[in-house]
Amino acid sequence: MYLHYIINPGLAFNELVLGQRIAKVGLVEKNTDKPFIERNYVPCPHCNTLHGNQVWSGSRSFGNWFGLYCPNCKGIIPCIRNATSFIVLAISSPLWYPFKNTLKKRWYKKQEQRFINVQSFSEPTQPTTMKQLILGGLFFGVIMFLFNSFLFPVLADEEISIDKLAVSLAICLLGGLLFSLFMKWYATSKKIN
Ligand SMILES: [Zn+2]
Repeated sequence: MYLHYIINPGLAFNELVLGQRIAKVGLVEKNTDKPFIERNYVPCPHCNTLHGNQVWSGSRSFGNWFGLYCPNCKGIIPCIRNATSFIVLAISSPLWYPFKNTLKKRWYKKQEQRFINVQSFSEPTQPTTMKQLILGGLFFGVIMFLFNSFLFPVLADEEISIDKLAVSLAICLLGGLLFSLFMKWYATSKKIN
């Protein structure tokens, strides 16, 4: 799961634009009947609170550019970095580095407000509906399509043809759907430890 997160270039978009992050250290409860997603806990390295996944679910799963905010001690929990994001960040660092501290301070100020409503222990996570799943998959497919069909050819100086675009779009949408279904299966699986 972690390896997939680090390698998949499509997730750089989730990370850099949407601010979806995964903590470096995650704990999984074993020997229970709960689905995988509800058995995941993130320990805060500053105050040692074990947070359930719902702390950073829904709208709070976005915008965590500087890491996951701990509502208990107001610390920042370190996150893994996707390989592509890392490269993008490294290349673009002259653009953002000078503003990093200001941005981080501004971001930090907003976090307390965002996390004020979090209950520390679990309201059960809402299962994803089929519609959300399909939309999410298609969205992911479109993002992959844009990357594959426009960004990479432009970088590699290749020609863009309509035929190729159509095939590529079909493959990406299908791939996105499969990915989405796979993630759903993964998140709800009771077998994975
Ligand atoms: Zn903490």
